[in-house]
Amino acid sequence: MSDVIQHWRDGKIFAGTSTATAPVTNPATGAVTGEVALASVDDARAVIDAAVAAFPAWRDTSLAKRTSVLFAFRELLNARKDELAALITAEHGKVLSDALGEVSRGLEVVEFACGIPSLLKGGFTENASTSVDVHSVLQPLGPVGIISPFNFPAMVPMWFFPIAIAAGNTVVLKPSEKDPSASLWMARLWAEAGLPEGVFNVLQGDKTAVDELLTNPKIKAISFVGSTPIAQYVYATATASGKRVQALGGAKNHAVILPDADLDLAADAMVNAGFGSAGERCMAISAAVAVGPIADDLVAKIAERAATIKTGDGTKDSDMGPLVTKVHRDKVASYIDAGEADGAKVVLDGRTVIANGGADGFWLGPTLLDNVTPQMSVYTDEIFGPVLSVLRVETYDEALALINNNPYGNGTAIFTNDGGAARRFQNEVEVGMVGINVPIPVPMSYYSFGGWKASLFGDSHAHGAEGVHFFTRTKAITTRWLDPSHGGINLGFPENK
Ligand code: NAD
Repeated sequence: MSDVIQHWRDGKIFAGTSTATAPVTNPATGAVTGEVALASVDDARAVIDAAVAAFPAWRDTSLAKRTSVLFAFRELLNARKDELAALITAEHGKVLSDALGEVSRGLEVVEFACGIPSLLKGGFTENASTSVDVHSVLQPLGPVGIISPFNFPAMVPMWFFPIAIAAGNTVVLKPSEKDPSASLWMARLWAEAGLPEGVFNVLQGDKTAVDELLTNPKIKAISFVGSTPIAQYVYATATASGKRVQALGGAKNHAVILPDADLDLAADAMVNAGFGSAGERCMAISAAVAVGPIADDLVAKIAERAATIKTGDGTKDSDMGPLVTKVHRDKVASYIDAGEADGAKVVLDGRTVIANGGADGFWLGPTLLDNVTPQMSVYTDEIFGPVLSVLRVETYDEALALINNNPYGNGTAIFTNDGGAARRFQNEVEVGMVGINVPIPVPMSYYSFGGWKASLFGDSHAHGAEGVHFFTRTKAITTRWLDPSHGGINLGFPENK
């Protein structure tokens, strides 16, 4: 099984005892390029045990040393990000420039985590009571699990592991079985950066591996990103096992285009946010809500631009790559069929695309649907493909109600030149990340990333202050260095005097 993509444990490749594997494909050719190991429960436990064994020494490693490893990882990643981007494109399909963008956004979290000494500063109160001082410290949780989706095989794990590791935890990453190679590449980079063995581990697998992470009492916290049904399952299962959990789920992101908006800017934004990464982004815009009389013009401008998109192999100067698997490609295409059958107007049809790539690639071109209504499945479901639906409404209030009635609340955007309208929208909309004339408002690493409602289960978003909070627990320490005059027996509850 030497050519199988394996686990990483104790600073080296670990071949478990399971012989189960899943195929890994290149979506631009349809060819099976490898097999990934699917861990058994025993394999999962072996990887978890490495993280358990490494924790005491890593927790006690000085912040100066931990930070120096973080800086080394940052330097190596920055110097070699093209290699990682190429691996992502080969298994995910997104175009190389987009894969590089993903790595850069992950790198920003590494840079944030390099500042961990400031982030871990506690508080100190002198003389809280007579001769009594109080201080607080932030301590790591222990071994933590990270479970990531296929669409960002490098960035999503990097939302979590730089901060988890910097704060003194040890990590088991369970990547998506669809594009597992990025995880091993990053594990090797950690080893090169000088991270001690066992601090960062990779567990390849499916539900068996995930379930062991969710229920094994040695794992103290779970960071999950994926679809809403699995996020809900992960949250329920892991919290029932007493773990701290943040589970980020799916999305249906709306953009509202007000009548006073710059329609060229809005049309550019709809194309970029609707079709970038073939719509396989949790922050993709899939519903453009045109308010008032601008709808015809907006649809024409989006169609004109979307028609110029070159769909093809991500290594061949394309604008948009294939979908991740054939099954997913066919599912997305079936939503277009359903939308058409339900009465939506197919303005641009990606089902007939001629792509610059392999004949067996998982191709679907940019698709623009007009006159979509809130009842159609193309609107109600998260499609996760290059399908942009235009909904027409008469007023701002109708647009807002559409968003606030939607079960998801990940990202949204408004396009307008009216500051007052934008300000009202940012206040009223029930969504976790809001863009004003910005279509994909992914927060910087020093803010936190995460949605509301069915887009997040748990109360901590990723990275930023909430990320540091998630990967630490606070201890409050009350100290008295005895002054002989304060002795004596007192059975009362401690009061501050
Ligand atoms: P997914 O839910 O199918 O898989 C996510 C992870 O869960 C993978 O590691 C997978 O192996 C595991 N998994 C799958 N089925 C499981 C099961 N039955 N039991 C236990 N584990 C299971 O998601 P995906 O298709 O890989 O990714 C796309 C989804 O992720 C979309 O819904 C997208 O919106 C979402 N996503 C959300 C965010 C966010 O920040 N909210 C970011 C990226 C992706």
